[in-house]
Amino acid sequence: MTAFWAEPDFDAHEQVTLVHDRSSGLTAIIAVHSTHLGPAAGGTRFWHYNDPAGAMRDCLRLSRGMSYKNAMAGLPMGGGKAVILADEQRIKTPEMLAAFGDAVEALGGRYVTAEDVGISEADMVAVSRRTAHVSGLPVEGAGRAGGDPGPFTAHGIYLGIKAAVRHKLGKDSVAGIHLAVQGTGSVGGGVARLLARDGAKLTLADINAERAAALATELGGVAVASDAIMATPCDVFSPNALGAILDDAGIAALDCAIVAGGANNQLAQAQHGAALSARGILYAPDYVINAGGIISVATEYLARRDRRQVEVAEVRALIEQIPGRLETIWQESAASGVSAAVVADRMAQRLIGRG
Ligand code: NAD
Repeated sequence: MTAFWAEPDFDAHEQVTLVHDRSSGLTAIIAVHSTHLGPAAGGTRFWHYNDPAGAMRDCLRLSRGMSYKNAMAGLPMGGGKAVILADEQRIKTPEMLAAFGDAVEALGGRYVTAEDVGISEADMVAVSRRTAHVSGLPVEGAGRAGGDPGPFTAHGIYLGIKAAVRHKLGKDSVAGIHLAVQGTGSVGGGVARLLARDGAKLTLADINAERAAALATELGGVAVASDAIMATPCDVFSPNALGAILDDAGIAALDCAIVAGGANNQLAQAQHGAALSARGILYAPDYVINAGGIISVATEYLARRDRRQVEVAEVRALIEQIPGRLETIWQESAASGVSAAVVADRMAQRLIGRG
């Protein structure tokens, strides 16, 4: 049997903590990939996995992704991630969240948590009763930044899509540009609303068909079945649901010029970045374009530590740097013939001292 730490997904994580709390029933993994640039920041996912090895793989891949994301966003934070293994009914109790808060506290600030799929602002408030190493907490007062990272993530993706349209299609406006959006939740819904405001044409899909249909009605778009969205002829395919959708079959099905969306770990395997390039599709590396949320969460955390307030404008100014970073990656990719995904990975690895 291969040693666990020799598996490619382990990727020299600094620390992986397995948590089991008998009285609350909490089972969790906390992965700290790198603290080279600062405390390892990344959200907590609450998800039911069919097998524990899948949970570990997901946690490790997401954790490394956070190292890359935080480094590329210019944040003084390392990368980490937590996964709480839910049962089939996905029952989440206050006792579990308290035990999870204790586990985060026990790491002494090496890991800072926030929301991810399946975890709400209210859950983070519960965790914050046991540890200060938490962010994404509700804020009071108009103009103050913090709380749910979803709208900040959507804003960064909106700016990134506009940059991609400029780069690939030579257009300064997204008016009339056709966007196919996979997943119409917090991020996908936000991206669709921002682009609709600018006159983009929208095709939307979600496994929750009612949700996609309601948004299509609101924005004057069209809803299609979720298994039809990747093959929809469009200018931009925007994945905002789950990861690993860009595999051989998925890439072969695409009928678009650009892939730019918020889902984490969109490439099924590293070579799929080159497969997109080979098809002439411009790819916005996921962890670069979807950094808006962690920019907000990290800024909020650092400000709370320093006992100061953060204005939304401060966070937005940092998010506005995302298009420039994408442009640098695309230019280097065009000059070197190396895919945008690999260019981004190499940049991130250099920044975390592993290049
Ligand atoms: P969400 O739960 O609000 O929305 C996800 C939506 O995708 C849901 O409506 C769900 O029904 C739908 N969905 C799931 N599988 C689907 C499929 N196969 N086809 C079509 N629709 C499907 O989650 P979110 O916060 O919008 O996050 C979306 C993605 O963006 C996730 O991959 C998440 O990790 C990533 N992300 C989110 C943030 C953030 O700030 N929320 C930040 C960075 C990355």
